[in-house]
Amino acid sequence: MQLSHTLAEAGQGPLMNRWVIANQKGGVGKTTTAVSLAGLLARRGEPTLIVDLDPHGSMSSYFGLDPEAGQGSVYDLFSAAAAGQQPDMASVIQTTAFEHLSIMPASTALATLEKQLGGRNGMGLVLGRSLQMIDDHYRHVLIDCPPILGMLMVNALAACDELLIPVQTEHLAIKGLDRMLRTLSMIERSMKMNIDYTILPTLFDRRTMASVQSLERLRELHSGHLFHSPIPVDTKFRDASHAGKPLSHMHPNTHGLRAYEQFLDSLLPDTSQPQQVAV
Ligand code: ADP
Ligand code: MG
Repeated sequence: MQLSHTLAEAGQGPLMNRWVIANQKGGVGKTTTAVSLAGLLARRGEPTLIVDLDPHGSMSSYFGLDPEAGQGSVYDLFSAAAAGQQPDMASVIQTTAFEHLSIMPASTALATLEKQLGGRNGMGLVLGRSLQMIDDHYRHVLIDCPPILGMLMVNALAACDELLIPVQTEHLAIKGLDRMLRTLSMIERSMKMNIDYTILPTLFDRRTMASVQSLERLRELHSGHLFHSPIPVDTKFRDASHAGKPLSHMHPNTHGLRAYEQFLDSLLPDTSQPQQVAV
């Protein structure tokens, strides 16, 4: 595909936000969070790229791309790096049916990456360097991670401005969060960097004790990093996923999407306040 106009051409500055959505537990709402936030940003006219790092490719499938089809994918970034070449970003990024929203799809070959290249030096920075090549084309990049600690998660965290950790409000999921936070500090130590993170309670059902108690527990243990308002269970997310559309482009007024909108506003810099001007 042809890459979109640069942000400068569109009259916007070149600052790219990179959010990584990760949790080593599956089924907690990672892909749903990535798609929902990206849909909202695209609706606001913000040039947005989503990156599917999960070899299962559920986000790619969501947008009608078959991870087994052999199209350009995240895998190509790694094979180019292993061959000492620059990736061809225009062939790796695909447009979606939605304005301002592009995707770097996954392919099933990603599952073999660890075995092929896991031992090589310098493989942890491949994604970050590739994103640098296009940082004047997209305002926001959302990276959807597989639920496994490995090269792909390391690449995502190395490329990350802020980590978003969706946590299902149920007892076992809270244990999974501890594992994710241990992984995070291990990677921070080995890369000598600090990564900001926000925990997002998901799949909240106020009628169940498990949801209510887990949210209380998250508030006790993680108040400094917790987004205050949980994402409720909303069947419209499944409907949107079946239809292959972000919820913002299908049912923008449901309570689930409104919760993501509140979360998104908390992540973005507050532009409603007058900026202080240095004199
Ligand atoms: P993960 O990427 O962490 O494996 P998904 O985002 O794929 O999790 O979500 C798992 C399932 O739960 C999907 O079928 C999705 O549609 C559904 N789901 C996610 N969030 C919600 C929600 N807030 N309400 C209802 N269903 C949800
Ligand atoms: Mg997923």
